[in-house]
This record gives sequence, structure tokens and C-alpha cells, in this order.
Amino acid sequence: MATETISVWNPATEEHITDVRSFTADDVYDAIGAAVTAQRKWMKLPMAQRQQFLNDIADTVLVHRDELARLESTDVGKPIHAATAEVEGVAACFRYYAGALDKVHGDAITLDDGISLTFHEPIGVIGVITPWNFPLPIASWNIAPALAAGNAVIVKPASMTPLSTTRLGELIAGISPVKGLFQVVTGSGSIAGGALIDDPRVGKISFTGSTEVGQSILRSSATTMKRVTLELGGKSANLVFEDADVKAAAQAAPGAVFDNSGQDCCARSRILVQRSVLGEFVGEFIEATRALKLGDPNSPDTDLGPLVSAEHHRAVSEFLTEDQHYLYRGETPDAPGHWLAPQIILDETGKSRAAVDEIFGPVAVIIPFDTEDDAVRIANDSIYGLSGSIWSRDVARALRVSRQVQSGTLSVNSNSSIRVQTPFGGFKQSGMGRELGLEGLLGYTELKTVFVKTEE
Ligand code: NAP
Ligand code: MG
Repeated sequence: MATETISVWNPATEEHITDVRSFTADDVYDAIGAAVTAQRKWMKLPMAQRQQFLNDIADTVLVHRDELARLESTDVGKPIHAATAEVEGVAACFRYYAGALDKVHGDAITLDDGISLTFHEPIGVIGVITPWNFPLPIASWNIAPALAAGNAVIVKPASMTPLSTTRLGELIAGISPVKGLFQVVTGSGSIAGGALIDDPRVGKISFTGSTEVGQSILRSSATTMKRVTLELGGKSANLVFEDADVKAAAQAAPGAVFDNSGQDCCARSRILVQRSVLGEFVGEFIEATRALKLGDPNSPDTDLGPLVSAEHHRAVSEFLTEDQHYLYRGETPDAPGHWLAPQIILDETGKSRAAVDEIFGPVAVIIPFDTEDDAVRIANDSIYGLSGSIWSRDVARALRVSRQVQSGTLSVNSNSSIRVQTPFGGFKQSGMGRELGLEGLLGYTELKTVFVKTEE
């Protein structure tokens, strides 16, 4: 029987790029078998050699920076400057975990009759299932700490955007000290992803994607009692108080919601603005949005590319009903490609579908508020809690509000969401568990306690 394939398309031109292999469940089981063998060898290698390998991956990624960025840009429709910065971030992530590898250690406690020691043991084989919006960064946030903790890793990338991860797999295989330590299995979520979830030899699944699929993975993982980390959707709030540098907040806001054409789980797609500065904020925000350049992702001055697919374009467009109060509708080019220019909606109630659901496209909803308590209440009126920003010159207020907003990551007077050094993950239905930082590495370990009797 011929090997099944998946077609890969360029969302900016609607041209066919290539086909990739569609792994069957049996193919994935074979990969898991190889990973089990590789992991046993890997965890016994000298520490310096394991660190060297992670540093070698970082070096290799940088040597192939432009190639990987071009693949990502063509496959996802991402502006080339963003794709290039993301590839550099991937190298930095491997570098960070190379350095972290020998800094994780257990603990000891003396007891009346002996000493108890704790060890952070590798889990074994890790299955990583990634989405299409940031294929390489999200893969690296899991591959690097999982390898550093002594595990083998198999990644199943999104079917729409498998190219950069597949290439990373080839590059890593070329320098890996152990065959099968890192593998990429392309194919459908339910078949290739499902095989990783069902197989008892996989100890943990790290999934990034929609809340709906995350829920189904959590249910299926119960059978083999798999460890699960879930990074899911978001509808994050950008809170702009009247005591903020309103101009700075308004100029930063387009990047916070429209970068990656809004296809970002951390997008601050609800902008909560104190009523007294609403006019000033809206004027500056529209001006800054108007300046964004939509177009060819390969052009160095492009800010916004297309949406990832025709299907996703349809799903986003459904939110753009005529009955809403539009403050701004960017001009969408009438050309091949899944283009959609930024849209800004005013919703006094904060209850419209556009204000409540994750759109995952270039759509911002502005919701006015009167008091600090109102701002916190509206920000928390969501099933999600992933990211967000607070703009205020009052440090006490910024910290007070930060403590009350139910979200895994917040930034004050900034759009920053993700740093490799600090944990990232969601409250509520935005997920469970944390990636990145030392917590991210510990998430790829099992804690073992060993008691040693020393006294009669
Ligand atoms: P998705 O449909 O949930 O897909 C994500 C991944 O899961 C893909 O690799 C997909 O494979 C796979 N998959 C689908 N069904 C599966 C199943 N039944 N079993 C196992 N794997 C399965 O999400 P998406 O549409 O690609 O991405 C958009 C969503 O991801 C948004 O909701 C966004 O917020 C979220 N996201 C979250 C974060 C975060 O860090 N919190 C980051 C990025 C994206 P196929 O491609 O083959 O279907
Ligand atoms: Mg999908």
C-alpha cells in the first residue's frame, strides 16, 4: 500500500508547497519503541555530553536560521522578520536548558532513623502535540526541557504547518548522540496524535492547541494515567487605566492583538479602557493600527501576513457581523491568499460573541470601564486566563490589579508574554501545568523518594 500523505499549502498564495508523510498508528508505535531504547541510553550519557548536545542543537538551529525562518514563513504565512526572531528564540531555548540541565537537584531530610532523599527522575518518552500558529517555538519549549530532564521526545506537529518541525527533526537526527532520541511524526491529530496518547509507553503528553481537543486529550489520558500539560486558548485582557501613559499603551496595543494576524493564544483581544481616556486611546490605537503593513510575508517590512487557511478565515469572518459598532475596518486585499486586515469593535456590554469567544484572528474588542473594580470584574469574566497587560503609572495599582486578575501570565506597561526563564501557562480553561523556566524542566520529571535507614 502506498504511503498516505498530507498536502501542505502556502496561505499567502494558496499554492501547493509539498506533501508530507501521514504516519499510521503502527508507524507511531514503531517510533515509540525506538524512543524507549534511545531514552535508556540518553539518560546514562555523561552530563557534559548531554549539555553539549543541547548546545549543538542551538548552534545548528542558528546555522540554519534563514532556511528554518523561510520554511515557517511560507508554511504559516508569518512575516519573515517575525519568523527569523522566532528561530533565534528556539536556539536561545535550547541554550537555556543546556545550562539548566545540571542545576536541577533533589533534596535531603534527616529523620529519626535515617535520611530521605528525593530525586527528579526522567519520565521516559514524551509526546508533544503542537498547533499551527507558532510551530517551532512551541515545539522547542517542550523538546528542550524534556531532553534536558533525560527524556526522549516525539513531536506531532499540526497538519497544516509541519515543515519547520520536520526539518528540525532532520537537523537534530544528524547530530544526535543517540538514534531515535528525538523524532517527528507527521499525520492527523486523531491517528498519529491518538497513537501517542493511547500508548502506555508514552509517559507524558504535552499538548498545545484548542481547549476542545485539550479536553478530549485529558479524558483519553486517564486510561494510561498519563501526565498531561495543556496549553490552550485565551481571550486575554489589556487593561488601560486613566493614570497610564495612554499614548504608549495605545501604540503597543496593535502588536498585542494583531501580531501573527491575531493567531496567538496570548493575544490581548479584549482591550478594557477607562472611560475618561477612551477617546484619546481609541484615536492613537486606530492610528497605530492603520500603520501596520499587510502583505507578502517574505517582504522584510511586512507586519501582517494572511490567516493560516481558508477554513480558519471563514471561522474568523463569522465574528464580523454587520450589527456591531466598528471603530475601524482595515482594507483587505482582493488577491489570492487568506487575507484579513485588522478590525476594531466597540462593545459597551462586553457580552457580544466577539467580546467573549476566542477569535484567533486580527479582531480587537474595546470595552470601556469606570472603576478599578469594574476592570477586574470584566477581565475575569471569561472561561480563559492565559495572559494580559495592565497599563498604569501607579505601581501599587498595577500590582494590586495583577494579583486579582485570574491569569497565568501578566505584564505591566508591556506586551511581554513569554520568556524562556519564567513559567508560562493558563488559569481556568486556558490549560494546566506550566512550560518554560525551571518549572518547565521539573514538569518533565517524576519525583522519587528514597529512605536510607541509618539508625537502629
Ligand atoms: P487544535 O485543532 O487543537 O490542534 C492542535 C494540535 O492537536 C494539532 O497538531 C492537531 O493535529 C492535534 N489534534 C487535533 N485533534 C487531535 C486529537 N483528537 N488527538 C490528538 N491530537 C489532536 O488547535 P489548532 O486549531 O491547531 O490551534 C489553535 C488553538 O491553539 C487555539 O485555540 C489557540 O489558543 C491554541 N493555542 C494555545 C497556545 C498556548 O500556549 N496556550 C499556543 C498556541 C495555540 P492536526 O493538525 O492534524 O489536526
Ligand atoms: Mg485544528
